[in-house]
Amino acid sequence: MKEFVPLKRTLTLSFLAAELFFGGCSGDPLDIVKPEGRDGSKVIICTTTMIHDIGKILAGDLHNVRGIMQPGEDPHIYELKPHDTILIIEADLILMNGLHLEAQVGHVIDTKAKGKVVRLAVDSRIQTLGSEDTEGAPDPHCWFNPEYYKVYVEKACNALSELDPENAKTYRTRTDAYLKELDGLHAWGKEAIATIPNERRIMVTSHDAFQYFGQAFDIEVHAVAGISTEQDPTPQDRLKLEALVKKRGAKALFIETSVRDALNVMIRQIATATDAKVGGVLHSDSLGAPGSGADTYLSMLKYNLNTVVKALQ
Ligand SMILES: [Zn+2]
Repeated sequence: MKEFVPLKRTLTLSFLAAELFFGGCSGDPLDIVKPEGRDGSKVIICTTTMIHDIGKILAGDLHNVRGIMQPGEDPHIYELKPHDTILIIEADLILMNGLHLEAQVGHVIDTKAKGKVVRLAVDSRIQTLGSEDTEGAPDPHCWFNPEYYKVYVEKACNALSELDPENAKTYRTRTDAYLKELDGLHAWGKEAIATIPNERRIMVTSHDAFQYFGQAFDIEVHAVAGISTEQDPTPQDRLKLEALVKKRGAKALFIETSVRDALNVMIRQIATATDAKVGGVLHSDSLGAPGSGADTYLSMLKYNLNTVVKALQ
């Protein structure tokens, strides 16, 4: 199979600004939030690292695009820092996931944001999946189906064009190019997963973030914890999953980079109690750190696909 190679991303102004800000500079954080030397520059705040990637790709060199969560941070339990509230208040546009992914951050956005707020996962083109253990609450991890992530990108493009009509053509051109890359990765991923024999196409993860991934790439998914990482799974949950792993002969379980240790510990315990191995680490609700090989949506998804294929073949 041909290697999937995403286009190289250039270092954006927003990234440099974030480095300055989070690197411990002194002074009022508001000075940093304010537009930086470019007439008409806007403050665009993105909640998760996946959404920050969209913001940087479409508008990173045109506006002050900032992310609230850093690589490895869990949006379900992220605790707001004082400068996050300043960013939320100052933002001209906030791009967020919605569907209660950003639990505490979402609440502050609801009560404090003055600019436009766009919930990228809330759209009639996205058919949300439910979850048995959370009384029908919608599963917010829609970005793992590239078709749905394309809706995120389209919505971000529309919001940016509305905010900054002068550059609407630029946003459209960038969006079209990016959508093509997403189509390419989706097709490559489907081929990659199809190389796993059918009876082995079953994956078990720390929390239930991969149902849309399973839907997009045709693989069965189970998890220790539910669609949020807030609650601890019970010993009964663990025993149920152990039984399933044994019954189905699941070959590998996967730990995740952005969840609490307790959930990953349980994955290791299930692996020890069964014939399954720990098949590797997946990026679930956060991209990897810069230079990790999973620091963009495209490279993260490719990394996860390669990890799953290698472990289950
Ligand atoms: Zn999650």
